Amino acid sequence: MISYEAFVENYQRVRERMASACQSCGRAEESVKLLPVTKTHPFDAAEFAYRAGLAAAGENRVQEAAQKKPLAPANLRWELIGHLQSNKVKQAVETFDRIQTVDSLELAKRIDRLAGESGRLMPVLIQANAGADPAKFGLADFSALRELAEETVQLPNLRLEGLMTIPALDENPEVARKAFDTLREWRDRLAEEMGRPLPELSMGMSGDLEIAIAAGSTLVRVGSALFGAR
Ligand SMILES: *Cc1c(COP(=O)(O)O)cnc(C)c1O
Repeated sequence: MISYEAFVENYQRVRERMASACQSCGRAEESVKLLPVTKTHPFDAAEFAYRAGLAAAGENRVQEAAQKKPLAPANLRWELIGHLQSNKVKQAVETFDRIQTVDSLELAKRIDRLAGESGRLMPVLIQANAGADPAKFGLADFSALRELAEETVQLPNLRLEGLMTIPALDENPEVARKAFDTLREWRDRLAEEMGRPLPELSMGMSGDLEIAIAAGSTLVRVGSALFGAR
């Protein structure tokens, strides 16, 4: 694990990258948030992020987040960015403040039921496989996405805030750009057809955050550029 000083340097560099990406496409800096991804790092990573003023940490495994959470500052928020299995939903609902990876109606209903049982309103994003990558979770076509979004907004204990995607890993930046543009188009179309805003577009990571910001990302999820290689 890197030192706090090294983290702060990385953090400043990431902020500069975000700022210049915003400037290049004429967006306000405040329109893009940073979610530090602390997976595989000791809980210190979350503590560093909190100390530097970040409000939330992203984890891709329920168990790992549940173990770190009691050690970290109490008002740090936790977001699930990894695939959620149905047998982990109860623990996920107890651990996370937002779930970014809803990808089926069955999962949405289960989160809704367990959130209701613990008297919570759970903010969620729907995960779309906007690059139609066979190795990724998420809905890969618009009509399936619309169907799930329409069902999800009916569930009383969920609050649908937007969409997230993970593009295929590819050296050609056009692959990510295309997936991000698709997610943005799907979001705009969904919001219009459903007559409600879906403000959050969670897309972009250490290697492609500039491309994601140019495509309209409101939340970049950054791990290695902040905390070093995993
Ligand atoms: C690990 C992970 C990230 C962060 O990836 P980096 O390349 O380390 O920035 C972002 N999003 C998801 C869903 C991840 O699993």
